[in-house]
Amino acid sequence: MDKKLSLIEKFKMFRKYQFLLNYSLFKPFYKNKFFSLTFHITTRCNAHCLMCFNWQTMNKNLKDLSLEEINKFTKNIGNLPNLSLSGGEPFLRDDIVEICKIFKKNCQTNKIAIPTNGLLPELIIKKTEEILKTCPVRLKLCLSLDGTGQVHDEIRRVDGAFEKFKKTLQAAIALTKKYPKLQVNINTTAFTANQNNLEELVSFINNIPEIKFHNIEFIRGAFNNHEAETITPEKYDELIDKIILKSKSLNNDKYHKKIYALYHNLAVKILKTKKQLVRCRAASHIPVIDALGNVYHCEILPPIANLKDYNYDFKKIWNSETAKKQRQNIAAKKCYCTHLCYQIQNIPMSPYYLIKAIFAK
Ligand code: SF4
Ligand code: SF4
Repeated sequence: MDKKLSLIEKFKMFRKYQFLLNYSLFKPFYKNKFFSLTFHITTRCNAHCLMCFNWQTMNKNLKDLSLEEINKFTKNIGNLPNLSLSGGEPFLRDDIVEICKIFKKNCQTNKIAIPTNGLLPELIIKKTEEILKTCPVRLKLCLSLDGTGQVHDEIRRVDGAFEKFKKTLQAAIALTKKYPKLQVNINTTAFTANQNNLEELVSFINNIPEIKFHNIEFIRGAFNNHEAETITPEKYDELIDKIILKSKSLNNDKYHKKIYALYHNLAVKILKTKKQLVRCRAASHIPVIDALGNVYHCEILPPIANLKDYNYDFKKIWNSETAKKQRQNIAAKKCYCTHLCYQIQNIPMSPYYLIKAIFAK
């Protein structure tokens, strides 16, 4: 069990998350102001993961938004401090460096996260270095690891995937010595295929001193349920204290750990009750755009509209009647999910849950 925070630490934790609380306390001021954007830049991928939630559009020869189209929509989205360039496998886009530069120029983006399956070590490192050399942003390379050895290969359905992951990881860590603006994180999706391997996986990552952050999330989204199965809430509950919160990387930040502990406990309750327990405000400030130009409040709900039908005017879509109606449904708690990217922001955006996290043991 963790210790309670001292009074000074409680204050420091409040100050750390206050900017997120402001999004809900001063709502009119934050209208059309976004904390982050998740942009899926391609529908192509070189893995075939069991738990992929993009499986319906993956590798179907669909046309990804071009640089010109990206340039158009970013010109009216406004300031975007954070950006996640996802996929598919984002490094399969030859122009990933140019995409980063467009966001830096048009949206003054300062922090970019790129989740990758790590299957192309040379290409990933080459492009990462190019971004770091030519685009002045803080870059997080988020390598996905879902098991150790054979477990990882079987989940990716790629022979030798774990070895390639290790090669990418080592090279990425070496790059952090040269570029202080680079951080390497690990992402894990927990589901039945790896539930019995998680302990070994956490200990593998804990033994790598350079890794400061290891994110473990319950499977989510529209995954193909013929291929993957969710962990039962009871099993997940058991894993939280025993394994998930043992992650050394999480222990590097005691304030973050408080939020994560509350998130995981809430996720179990959400799974059991099938209800939106914390009001979802994150969907209003962290939009999603897929590689085809569809705009979403989040990756779980249906798209609001496509950029191509609105002459790439993002704000027009965001302020459309369809968007307003979907936001009313969200506020009426007609949807629920355990999506970490949103719930982890919803906690500090709620005065009640932020205080609960600050005062938790
Ligand atoms: S790496 Fe990501 S996008 Fe590719 S198959 Fe796996 S989960 Fe899907
Ligand atoms: S609760 Fe989940 S499904 Fe509903 S809006 Fe928020 S992120 Fe989307």
